[in-house]
Amino acid sequence: MRRRNNTRLEPTSPVSLYVHIPFCRSKCPYCAFYSVIPTPVEVTAFLEALEGEIGFLSKSSDRPLLRTAYIGGGTPTLLSPADWERLITVLESAFSFLPTAEVTVEANPGSLAREHLALWKDWRVSRVSLGVQSLQDEDLLAMGRPHDSRQALESMAEIKGKGLSLSVDLLFGLPAQKLQGWSDTLRRVLDEGAEHLSIYELTLEDGTPWGSHPPRDLAAGYPFYRWAQYYLEKKGLLQYEIASFSKPRRWCRHNVAYWSGAPFLGIGPSAWGYDGTVRTGNVADLERYRWLIEKGIRPTLFSERLEGKRRAFELSVLALRTRWGIRIQEYRRLWGDQMLKDLQDSLEGLPPCLFRKAPGRIALSKQGMRVGNTIWERLVP
Ligand code: SF4
Repeated sequence: MRRRNNTRLEPTSPVSLYVHIPFCRSKCPYCAFYSVIPTPVEVTAFLEALEGEIGFLSKSSDRPLLRTAYIGGGTPTLLSPADWERLITVLESAFSFLPTAEVTVEANPGSLAREHLALWKDWRVSRVSLGVQSLQDEDLLAMGRPHDSRQALESMAEIKGKGLSLSVDLLFGLPAQKLQGWSDTLRRVLDEGAEHLSIYELTLEDGTPWGSHPPRDLAAGYPFYRWAQYYLEKKGLLQYEIASFSKPRRWCRHNVAYWSGAPFLGIGPSAWGYDGTVRTGNVADLERYRWLIEKGIRPTLFSERLEGKRRAFELSVLALRTRWGIRIQEYRRLWGDQMLKDLQDSLEGLPPCLFRKAPGRIALSKQGMRVGNTIWERLVP
């Protein structure tokens, strides 16, 4: 029997919201996120279904109060400005926003229009996260991205011109990628006024074309990551998470809430939610998502209760990803002396240089962030 999502949040506690827009212009060969290439009819039907899903939320809790909202995908800029107006109306009618709420929208060069920016600026959007990936045309071509460096530069200038905070996503470890090109990309992105960078190493995911047929000449990611750590710090950006760098206090509050284990709502196909105890995930299939909602059924694929050692483990890994790390007193209060000892025992024997000197905390150093995966492996629940 399908397990229903009975998530119920405390009425007045502010939460975060993630909205998944499941559309892309084309499918990048390395991407494992759920998205489809849409027809206009599908976009309209999706927005109707999304309204239906929001209707379930308002039945099961008071009007949620949002501290952050993140509209991602997929490619949210594939929604036309008229679709965006509808989405904004739906969100405004279903949610309250703290006056200080951070609202982020993901955008891709090539589909970001001035009308999008005007609408977002007039609404509540404070940050735009732009999928630049690289400013080297040969990298973009090798990745099968549907934009070029000129479009990326234009989009960055337009976002800044509207007075919105610019965050940029970049990829490294690409086929035949050159360190010189990477260094040039980092420099030019900062010149364009990016206040936040997320840098990801290309991973070959199961179920993707590159997962089954890896491209040749993949560059080893380590030197690219090291260069970014060195260069971005020199330019005044703080590495506040394994893949995230920002100007002082311009970190992404939505992601920080996620890494600190705060509750969040997730809507749209494949979106995840977490109420502090139960994690839920929606079906990653637009047709099925719409069908379930039409039948009055929540589009939940799974729900799982996170408790005890497993929850402590997951929260530890999330916290260790960030520069703030694990607060030892808080960990002891939440999980007890024995769990704290288990955690410390798991980390025993690792070189001290992997940890930052941070009184009252366990936090990774820059070196530690370079080998995060090998550290998580020791924290088996
Ligand atoms: S544009 Fe982004 S979400 Fe869409 S297929 Fe490419 S990587 Fe995936």
